[in-house]
Amino acid sequence: MNQPLEISFFDYTCDRCGTPVCERVQLMNLALSYEEELFCLDCLSAEQSMTPAELADFAKSYVYSRDCFKNPWMKFDATPCPKLSEGLCFCQDAAC
Ligand SMILES: [Zn+2]
Ligand SMILES: [Zn+2]
Repeated sequence: MNQPLEISFFDYTCDRCGTPVCERVQLMNLALSYEEELFCLDCLSAEQSMTPAELADFAKSYVYSRDCFKNPWMKFDATPCPKLSEGLCFCQDAAC
């Protein structure tokens, strides 16, 4: 397995548009009961008629309320997310 470094943060890709997504976005999909398909936050929020930020907040509150989601969420280190520097990251912990 010789994956380039930048790809290793994003283990998954959106089934609709091919955008790379990280494990936390995958958990948000599961929290919203998307089990067959995996979408990036843009596609997921379009499905739900929400903005990506609204959708991330909604999914996170669900993730935090369930240990089966919260445990893998906390295990994943999101601090090196490449989208952070662009201000486009929705996978960080909610500031609560
Ligand atoms: Zn997508
Ligand atoms: Zn991120």
